[in-house]
Amino acid sequence: MWCADKEKKRNMSQAVTAARSPRGREDDFEEVENFHGVYLLCSTNPKYKGWTYIGYTVDPNRRIVQHNKGRKHGGAFRTSNRGPWDMVLIVHGFPNDVSALRFEWAWQHPKRSRRLRCIIPVKKSRMTKFQWLIELLGRMLCVDPWCRLPLTLRWLMPKYKTPFTGEWIPPSHIQYVDGLVKSRRIRDVLENSTHSASGNGSSCCLVCGEDVASVADQLRCFGCYNKFHLRCLADLFLRRSGEVTDGIVPVSGTCPTCDLQVMWGDLVRFKKGCFRDVFRDPSVPHQLSQP
Ligand SMILES: [Zn+2]
Ligand SMILES: [Zn+2]
Repeated sequence: MWCADKEKKRNMSQAVTAARSPRGREDDFEEVENFHGVYLLCSTNPKYKGWTYIGYTVDPNRRIVQHNKGRKHGGAFRTSNRGPWDMVLIVHGFPNDVSALRFEWAWQHPKRSRRLRCIIPVKKSRMTKFQWLIELLGRMLCVDPWCRLPLTLRWLMPKYKTPFTGEWIPPSHIQYVDGLVKSRRIRDVLENSTHSASGNGSSCCLVCGEDVASVADQLRCFGCYNKFHLRCLADLFLRRSGEVTDGIVPVSGTCPTCDLQVMWGDLVRFKKGCFRDVFRDPSVPHQLSQP
């Protein structure tokens, strides 16, 4: 009886979610923790054909509903009464809101962005705004600091899928996926006892041997749970890859205690309590899936 009730409840809650969701059943959504995404909308209204909008969100499913309901429901002024809008793609995997908001701003204002000013694609006469934005996005993913982050480019609506062309092909650690996504908000679990129970139990950084006094300065490897100063591990990874150590963030490296090859961004996400999508094998390059 208990099982049947539980199953019934589960089905009911799925039905409720599905009814609220604009475009999919509960099972269609991949859940991602600590979600910071920058999305692209395209208007499906014939009167606003070719209109696009770039925004940032921590909850794409709530956001698209707001855009389509209009300004009174939290939608942006520029998208109000110009929809319905399709949320075409979203770039996620940013370590925090600041990082994602910088990406959003640069994609919106490439001419004003110091990083993009010189690499803005020329808009050919037959190119749509959408195609131009995709080409610009491809270039953005090739340059600092974004080429260093473990970003995912997710096509939420595969019918819009457009491959990157030309010589600007983003690095192989950028993931390309299709399908819907759901954000799962989590608390910072740095001091979660289940994690401090593992590792060597030492409060010392295993690079420099000094005490890791501040939680904010600390990173743990998700292979061995050992602790490191954030800067010590970053410098070690950068030194080993032969890069300059001046405050830049490494892309990846090998844990000095368990030899696991890790993406830097995954360590940061692990620090923030994101365990679910961290365990992909970073040694396997992700292929660009062409439609
Ligand atoms: Zn250290
Ligand atoms: Zn390790």
